[in-house]
Amino acid sequence: MDHMLCHCGKRSPVTTSWTDINPGRQFIGCYKYGSPDACNFFMWVDPPICARARAVIPGLLRRSRHLEDQIRVMKRGERIYMATLILFGIFFLWSICSVDGGSDSVEGSCGGL
Ligand SMILES: [Zn+2]
Repeated sequence: MDHMLCHCGKRSPVTTSWTDINPGRQFIGCYKYGSPDACNFFMWVDPPICARARAVIPGLLRRSRHLEDQIRVMKRGERIYMATLILFGIFFLWSICSVDGGSDSVEGSCGGL
């Protein structure tokens, strides 16, 4: 199964289907599978998926993708929050230094900044 050749004479890779009808089912097809100039070589590696799995797996995949999207949005929000926090920290330090900036105690209150 590892070295099957399609009708083009090229090595045919094992690919996993993620369609709603055959989620996770592996097949071997033309190395150009999905392209208009692919040959018609195709065979399933895995047996057919049972009706229950066919009904459940697509919903689980959609839910997983939705949760991954939510994680991406939360991580983006976390980066914005951290950048804002750093900017406020810098502004806070700058405002403390600028209050004492005209006096002789600059070095003492800002640590020489
Ligand atoms: Zn081919």
